[in-house]
Amino acid sequence: MQLLDGKYISEKLKKQIAVEAGEVLAATGRKPHLVAILVGNDGGSETYVASKIKNCENVGFKSSLFRYNDSVTEADLLLKIEEINRDEEVDGLIVQLPLPKHINPEKVTETIDHRKDVDGFHPINLGRMMRNLPCFIPATPYGILLMLQEYQIETAGKHCVVVGRSNIVGMPISVLMARNANPGNCTVTLTHSKTIDLKKQVLQADIIIAAIGKKKFITADMVKPGAIVFDVGINREESTETKSGYKLFGDVDFENVAPKTSWITPVPGGVGLMTIVGLLKNTLASAKKEIYK
Ligand code: NDP
Repeated sequence: MQLLDGKYISEKLKKQIAVEAGEVLAATGRKPHLVAILVGNDGGSETYVASKIKNCENVGFKSSLFRYNDSVTEADLLLKIEEINRDEEVDGLIVQLPLPKHINPEKVTETIDHRKDVDGFHPINLGRMMRNLPCFIPATPYGILLMLQEYQIETAGKHCVVVGRSNIVGMPISVLMARNANPGNCTVTLTHSKTIDLKKQVLQADIIIAAIGKKKFITADMVKPGAIVFDVGINREESTETKSGYKLFGDVDFENVAPKTSWITPVPGGVGLMTIVGLLKNTLASAKKEIYK
């Protein structure tokens, strides 16, 4: 078993991003600029946004955070998004999910200018991704592709089984792994809660991508010897063992699964760190007008 080391790869790629951000500053007189909107006080969302802001600073990007109470109206939020869309000094705009129930996340996503949609959730970016055209790829799937590239893992012809079909992870990564591209060219099975005999499906996988949100859901008896395993899950549990007061668990029973695999991502220290890299790379690409002129 070998570890797909998100810490090592993310640090390496962030150094490259910092160099390119310096080049953007030298050429244009301004840093790549990411704007984040955070609604409410959800603990997980606070942590994710804080980490995105800190990472922007570390690679020499500008970042701005707009915070709203849970009570903000949908109309006010959409007006703010439109204002940021018009701001030529902004390269990327993300609205942290989840949103309060009275705000329609689809409306929010579709209001963001697709040329600034560095989360890659806008239907135009998702549609372009389906057609293998330049686009912003959702950050977590992008992070997985970057890991495959960095470790030079051959994916062509392999059977990839994705567990979970969310719009932000499972669905897009299944499309990406099936595309005629490298990484890609897999035969893909996309599974979910209605899948019959999940174990039988997962056992066929050369590559398993687990994005379910259930601690240690993928067990050793579901994994073919030599499989490559990406554990996307981030399941928080309160703990007295850590300074932060909580401990993170993946969707994979790492201790028992890892010995059977050829490659596996740990949690923490795996896909989560690469997600930030995906977001930074999209923001940089936007600042460099690499995707949309
Ligand atoms: P969602 O919670 O939106 O969806 C979960 C998916 O898992 C659904 O498609 C659901 O099926 C499927 N599922 C649930 N139970 C089962 C089951 N018993 N058998 C088979 N499939 C099942 O997922 P997300 O993609 O948003 O998140 C998944 C995990 O990844 C979470 O732990 C989340 O915190 C983490 N995450 C980590 C990121 C990172 O950067 N590492 C980024 C984003 C998420 P159905 O559609 O039928 O309901």
